[in-house]
Amino acid sequence: MSARLALFLLIAMPSALTAQARSSAARVTALLARMTLEEKVGQMTQVNLSLVSTDTQPLRDRIRLDSAKLRAAVVRRGVGSILNTGAGALPAASWQLLVKQIQDVATRESRLRIPVLYGVDAVHGHNYASEGTIFPHNLSLAASFNTELAEQVGEVTGREVLATGLQWNFAPVLDVGRQPAWPRFYETMGEDAYVASILGAAQIRGMQRSGKVAATMKHYLGYGMPRLGRDRVPAEVSTRYVREHALPPFRAAVAAGARSVMVNSGEIDGEPVHASKYWLTDVLRTELGFTGVVVTDWEDINFLHTRHRVAPSLKEAVRIAIDAGIDMSMTPLDYNFTDDLIALVKEGAIPMSRIDQSVRRILTLKMEIGLFDAPFPDPTLATNVGTGLARTIARQAARESITLLKNAGDVLPIRAGTRVLITGPAANSVSALHGGWSYTWLGQDSSYYPRGAPTLLTTVRARVPTTVHVEGSRFEETTDGSIAEAVKAARASDVAIVALGEEGYAEWVGDIPELALPDAQLRLAKAVIATGTPTVIVLLEGRPRIIRPVVDSARGIIFAGWPGMEGAEAIAEVLFGETNPSGRLPFSYPRATNALVTYDRKATEALTGWERDSVAFAPEFEFGHGLSYTTYAYSDLRVSQPLMTAGVTQVVRVTVSNTGTRAGEEAVLLFTRQHYAALTPAVRKLRAFEKVALAPGQAREMTFSLGADDLGYVGRDGKMVVAPGSFDVMIGGQKATFILQGTSAPAAAQRP
Ligand code: BGC
Repeated sequence: MSARLALFLLIAMPSALTAQARSSAARVTALLARMTLEEKVGQMTQVNLSLVSTDTQPLRDRIRLDSAKLRAAVVRRGVGSILNTGAGALPAASWQLLVKQIQDVATRESRLRIPVLYGVDAVHGHNYASEGTIFPHNLSLAASFNTELAEQVGEVTGREVLATGLQWNFAPVLDVGRQPAWPRFYETMGEDAYVASILGAAQIRGMQRSGKVAATMKHYLGYGMPRLGRDRVPAEVSTRYVREHALPPFRAAVAAGARSVMVNSGEIDGEPVHASKYWLTDVLRTELGFTGVVVTDWEDINFLHTRHRVAPSLKEAVRIAIDAGIDMSMTPLDYNFTDDLIALVKEGAIPMSRIDQSVRRILTLKMEIGLFDAPFPDPTLATNVGTGLARTIARQAARESITLLKNAGDVLPIRAGTRVLITGPAANSVSALHGGWSYTWLGQDSSYYPRGAPTLLTTVRARVPTTVHVEGSRFEETTDGSIAEAVKAARASDVAIVALGEEGYAEWVGDIPELALPDAQLRLAKAVIATGTPTVIVLLEGRPRIIRPVVDSARGIIFAGWPGMEGAEAIAEVLFGETNPSGRLPFSYPRATNALVTYDRKATEALTGWERDSVAFAPEFEFGHGLSYTTYAYSDLRVSQPLMTAGVTQVVRVTVSNTGTRAGEEAVLLFTRQHYAALTPAVRKLRAFEKVALAPGQAREMTFSLGADDLGYVGRDGKMVVAPGSFDVMIGGQKATFILQGTSAPAAAQRP
């Protein structure tokens, strides 16, 4: 591009965009003026596919719409949105056909010809398209600490969703996983709000790049910190804590342009979030400046009455939710919401201006993603699902997510000519590689997976054809004689790979009473290890199941999480040394059920027992831990401003060297610690990260910039406090100290 053309575009584009936005706004205003109350409330209603389709037992390969039900929804009720799949993943062509049939009715038969916005959960790639590319779940993706990769994953997901004719994706999950037992832990980017902010915003940028797909930040807010560790149970935490640990990714996502948000089904400090004007309006709209659409989660307005008991009737639940700031209700199985809302407006309990506000947002979203101008799927795009390029990115994401936790005596990589045993319930399971939300909601039905989808057994055997496989145990229970068989096979092998963990689950189906790995699996691992054959444990799981009894005696341990469709290859590449592992834990792997302490702990959380032994903080594996087949050394950490004043950037430099013999990638993590503060400071807090590739012998100076706002914490009043004082900055075992001078005035802008 010539410099002159670039200059022209730079000057012309913003005004062109503004003109487009202006014309969208004018079109929406004109439409709104023509709408009846019923049509407006229809737009605010989202129903499940089952409400408009015929099959009680849906077909596998296509959806049969019920013409009468579809017209009742789209023509008579004027519903704004439909969501979900049938029994499981559909071929791209069937998705396109489904959307086309719905839009045919919406744009030809409904009075105002408003297209329907179809929503889907493509939470780790397009997991509901038969040909879709399935990436590692967020927890594994976060282990890559690779922002660019997260953006590519988002972009492929958006492209594939659009290719199937869908334009609304209920992703990414931005919940911060502060409770590892929570059955949605794997959907999070781990326990740190900063990691979720950076990688979440990157995913959104990629997902929305085409301009035709709306991403959804979910689930706003505080879902990832349930006290009991079960799904949809209360977050018994303070507003301050929520602002410190849950809000930042949403702030970053709003800044990245996320077009919609889905609300947390749970409650914060006694208040269901669907009923919270504070969180949904004061914070989300006024403070964060969000202008997009707020959709409820599944049936959650009803639940204000039936579960949370903050509303004495369904109708009152609707009033509370709309008053709080909900724009669209995922009803999703009936029209109570629609009828009640119409009645409430007629009775004067909700002003028409409030309805107009939500409908304007919904229509603006539809307008901005081009739905009014092009409501039908583009048949030429169908081949954009599951491309070779997308698979390459999935492989790379899987590779970078594999985290080597232990490698005693260099048991890994496995050398050529080795006799290998592979055992354990995850060894020959596709579900244990993909997890929940994979082809089906729970991800357990292997008949939905692509034919020939490899398991770990397949990829290990491809490298060592003589590999012996013994099931060893099931996920929850032992099988007769199988442990004995595994022991016998281990004795005849040079190395044993024990693949343990969890098969897929989603939401409350994954609730567990005990975080320890089931006894059946631990017994298998112990028995194999006891043979003396060097044993490598591969963990395929959606959360860190405690493995204390086997950690010390296993020679190698790999955390693979749920790495998706390229996971089996990526793990084998790491096992056999074709890939040098670079994953780092984005969470603290707990050692015991009663020691669920996050890395950014308070000093007192590291104290235990009468003696208050300050070394007592001892997770099994620390946040940020991850080994490599090469070695790295850190040196020369220094700060540009030993005496830092607010408004001046602190430049932190450190040299990272590859001191081993293999090329590798290292995630460089920068932490800070404030020595003293009015509210107890965290022992350390991640403030920046960057991944660097280094050839053997190569050294690189890394540079990070910190502003005063990067050093703050959330004060009692919920505002960011940047307090003067002394700080440590820590990278890879190096430490430098500086003093921040100045006043403790709240920072002007809050930073993610
Ligand atoms: C889940 C959401 C999901 C929605 C629609 C709910 O049960 O909590 O994450 O987007 O269903 O499928």
